[in-house]
Amino acid sequence: MSSEHLLRPALAALFIVLAGAAPPAAHAYGWPVKPFDEPHAIRGGLDDPRFGQRSRAFHFGVDVCAPDGAPVYAVSAGVVHLDRRFRETVAVRAGSAHVFGYWHVVPVVSHRQHVSEHQLIGHVAAGWGHVHFSERRGHRYVDPLARGRLTPFIDHAPPTIRQVSFVLHARRLDPFALPPSADVLVEAFDGGGVHPAGPWEGAVRAPARLALRLVGADGRPRTAWLTVVDLGRRMLPARRFWQVYAPGTRQNRPDLPGRYRLYAANGFLPDAVEGATAVQVRAVDNRGNVTVALQAFAAARAPHAWPGRARRPLAPAW
Ligand SMILES: [Zn+2]
Repeated sequence: MSSEHLLRPALAALFIVLAGAAPPAAHAYGWPVKPFDEPHAIRGGLDDPRFGQRSRAFHFGVDVCAPDGAPVYAVSAGVVHLDRRFRETVAVRAGSAHVFGYWHVVPVVSHRQHVSEHQLIGHVAAGWGHVHFSERRGHRYVDPLARGRLTPFIDHAPPTIRQVSFVLHARRLDPFALPPSADVLVEAFDGGGVHPAGPWEGAVRAPARLALRLVGADGRPRTAWLTVVDLGRRMLPARRFWQVYAPGTRQNRPDLPGRYRLYAANGFLPDAVEGATAVQVRAVDNRGNVTVALQAFAAARAPHAWPGRARRPLAPAW
């Protein structure tokens, strides 16, 4: 049985949709705050979880740390667009379908003004302590930290996988007594690059990608790698939120680092692949740094005793 059959069809479909979209050709640019040619601390990445009062969404840019009042500069020449609905936002259209966004910024430029690269466009608004910086190509928000965009950005640190666990109905399972079907959860984060300071020290980002395969007791793979979470290419629609993040996920807070609990598989069938005795998970960040973790498992001896055999919706948004 191929590894695709271990996953709920909906998640496999999500994987196919995302994998089909190659990132557009990019060109590098400097940072929106001084110094332009040195890396700055990032306290939030693309597709990190964002919890509104009632809404759940994926973060549509990166949060570049900068003190309140710090000057903010255009990373690229273009034409300014100010929107009255978002008073502390400056957009600069660099091309017909290429827009940079600077949020939490009090503008010093006017609507339709032409700005040059590194021109002052505003100052960080009081109370924000960062610029939310976004890059839109066509209708898609893309990752400014992807190679060839925000430069320099240096990250040699691999992501951290804190835990690989099996759950059913939000209940943690004994990995050596699994029911016929369970969900695989991976708690992981990426903390590479310049570290944020002050209350945001320890802020981490979600990993860009997770892949999963099954291995046997001899350590040899029983399935091919399958990408099960793909966050690093573009902003995902909010309706996918509970397909990607599991309950218990939280975003970065002052003095409380974010916690990213990601669904690596839904409806995982421990008996489906003969000889498979462990799940191997590979986490990759947006610079290609890799971490691999292993979690052994075994099916329960009397699986009929489990009440959760029927497949079920994962979350309200499913
Ligand atoms: Zn932000």
